[in-house]
Amino acid sequence: MTEPPVNPDQALGPRHWARVDGWGMAVRSFGYLFHPRTADEIRNVYDLARGAGKTIVLRGAGRSYGDAAINNEGIVLDLCGMDRVISWEPDTGIIELEPGVTIQKLWQTIIADGYWPPVVSGTMHTTMGGCAAMNVHGKNNFKVGPFGDHIIEFDLLLPSGEIRTCDRAGNARLFHAAVSGFGMLGCFIRLKMKMKKVCSGLLRIEAFHTRNLQEMVDEFEDRVADADYLVGWIDTVAGGSGLGRGIVHQANYLREGEDPRPADSLTISAQELPAHLFGIMPKSLIYLLMRPFINNPGVRLINASKYWSSRIALRGACYCQSHGAFAFLLDYVPNWKLAYGAGGLIQYQSFLPRGRAVAAFEAILRAAHSAGLPPYLGVFKKHRPDPFLLTHALDGYSLAMDFRVTASNRQRLWSLAGELDQIVLDNGGRFYFAKDATLQLWSIDKFLPPANIEAFLALKHECDPENILQSDLSKRLFGKRFSAEVTQQSL
Ligand SMILES: Cc1cc2nc3c(=O)[nH]c(=O)nc-3n(C[C@H](O)[C@H](O)[C@H](O)COP(=O)(O)OP(=O)(O)OC[C@H]3O[C@@H](n4cnc5c(N)ncnc54)[C@H](O)[C@@H]3O)c2cc1C
Repeated sequence: MTEPPVNPDQALGPRHWARVDGWGMAVRSFGYLFHPRTADEIRNVYDLARGAGKTIVLRGAGRSYGDAAINNEGIVLDLCGMDRVISWEPDTGIIELEPGVTIQKLWQTIIADGYWPPVVSGTMHTTMGGCAAMNVHGKNNFKVGPFGDHIIEFDLLLPSGEIRTCDRAGNARLFHAAVSGFGMLGCFIRLKMKMKKVCSGLLRIEAFHTRNLQEMVDEFEDRVADADYLVGWIDTVAGGSGLGRGIVHQANYLREGEDPRPADSLTISAQELPAHLFGIMPKSLIYLLMRPFINNPGVRLINASKYWSSRIALRGACYCQSHGAFAFLLDYVPNWKLAYGAGGLIQYQSFLPRGRAVAAFEAILRAAHSAGLPPYLGVFKKHRPDPFLLTHALDGYSLAMDFRVTASNRQRLWSLAGELDQIVLDNGGRFYFAKDATLQLWSIDKFLPPANIEAFLALKHECDPENILQSDLSKRLFGKRFSAEVTQQSL
């Protein structure tokens, strides 16, 4: 529906009606968009929704690939305007933030004092609220856990208008559920976090190739004790003996005295990504150059060149790179997603226990190849379990794969995703709501422990008994289980 439905309540008129898409552009919606700047303005929208019989999705920067931050024909509460740094204490590394502060604003605030955020996503444009709600992980997940492990305390504004302050001692149940609770229990309006002290703005990087997935896992396991960050790129189109081949990057913080000029590297300008390619071409146009290669032969060519050049050029390569350049590789090319064309892309990220990962990911890659739908990007990470209720992490590995969506492959892609789900579930794996666009109504029961789902539904009933907070993702995966009667029965 592209026109707003006729609504007797003028407060929900065409003025607010807007198209709001998932980041990957493969799932889209229309809704009533609001931009609150204070807790009272959020309360007003809660009341408005209640009066109009509408649901609300909370939205940060909208960087979730699928439908986690959209709500078709409902209200979308865009929190990007609540972006104040409330306080920053360089002596302790403790910072208090509003939910709309982005990772970019966070690192820009703390870098000159010798700090870096302990966990960042692959893009710096995500917000604190979105990162907490999804409990995002970085390339150091195996070492420092997810975003939530670095939150000391937060204020959650419930749909009733009540503010609950939560930490590990007070409201601990809600603390561990709202982090990972994909915006279903209340709105984070203040987060208190601890930042990581660093003595240089540079990291030491080692890069090397691996000939298959087993070799990549072996390298990760050998290096895990000494590495601060580990990430693998996988050539997702290579088959046969090259199945799962790739490149690993290990990064380590420099120790005191190793950077001769820390005052220079610990600056915003030293961390920023270059604005031009080869010094002349504006980065905002690079996606146009990528476009002709976003198809099976194009990706085959690019990936093979990248892999084979790494075998020659990266042999034992060791160099220094800024935190920003290493962490936010995906921000080098703004709007790169537009290179995928009008149908956009989905990301399929699954998490497999350590002992099952190699065989399961190989099976996943083979299934995608046999379906004629190879993924175009593959990123490999190592994880560890964490205490959050709906966590996606486990003791094992994840492979995130980007698939191009077109009008002609969409249906086949969704059925391939169903096939891949089965491989993941048969091997005791998990999924991640921030990336998902394809899981089905029954899926959560197959990968989340029943006790966790029960506990989550109980908190949903306690914090949001009228089910005002919903999203297209929650409707797709939880169906009617948020409705009061069903929730009551399950308690
Ligand atoms: C290029 C790219 C790279 C990425 N790399 C990574 C990565 O390395 N690791 C990783 O884990 N993820 C990664 N992601 C996914 C991304 O980090 C998550 O989807 C994150 O949640 C997006 O934050 P956001 O501010 O855009 O939130 P949105 O996408 O807008 O919202 C995400 C969820 O948070 C909820 N929410 C938003 N604000 C609030 C609030 N104030 N209170 C309560 N709930 C709220 C929403 O309802 C929604 O469920 C990446 C995404 C992109 C596009």
